[in-house]
Amino acid sequence: MRVLLVEDDPMIGDSVRKGLRSEGFTVDWVEDGRAAELALDGAEYALVLLDLGLPRKDGLSVLRGWRQRDVGVPVLILTARDAVSDRVAGLDSGADDYLVKPFDLSELLARMRALMRRRAGRARDLVEWGDLRLDLLARTVEYRERPVALSGREFALLKALAESPGAVLSREQLEERLYGWGEEVESNAIEVHVHNLRRKLAPALIRTIRGVGYRLENS
Ligand code: CA
Repeated sequence: MRVLLVEDDPMIGDSVRKGLRSEGFTVDWVEDGRAAELALDGAEYALVLLDLGLPRKDGLSVLRGWRQRDVGVPVLILTARDAVSDRVAGLDSGADDYLVKPFDLSELLARMRALMRRRAGRARDLVEWGDLRLDLLARTVEYRERPVALSGREFALLKALAESPGAVLSREQLEERLYGWGEEVESNAIEVHVHNLRRKLAPALIRTIRGVGYRLENS
């Protein structure tokens, strides 16, 4: 899952990025409001973690701009401003949730999962599709009631497909979700992950739609 982190404090930014990466997230980190706007124009994110006090353009203005343009990405505000009026302004500007610094990584992760569930209309951290079952909290996969060990990227790819059942996702869309900036992506990376998933799960589970992309089959 690809996340945009907007934070100008180097210590906080670095620790959040490290923490999220260790949980398998792909994290792009920018340090001012304008860079956040450019980032969101250029890539698809599952979630934005947004500081409010930022150089060049403050977080609330950035958020209002997105919502005025109907950009619906879930936004979780991370800020030291703990006054009630700031929290209200943040939520009224279109934030989905609010976390006051200093916070615990475990609470941030729990709130992110809650936002993802709400976004997907799920009450639990489970994605099920036919015989496939993904536990997003434990990051485990079962197929036909058998646990299957996947790499982080394989899990992310399978999750992307399982969350859009029946939809065809292109190689470019999958690369977007799996890789952040500056990460070297081999031209056949997605094909290799798909090959491994077919080998570990079932060959017919992921269908190649020639010239378009990949789709999860209900097998
Ligand atoms: Ca700040």
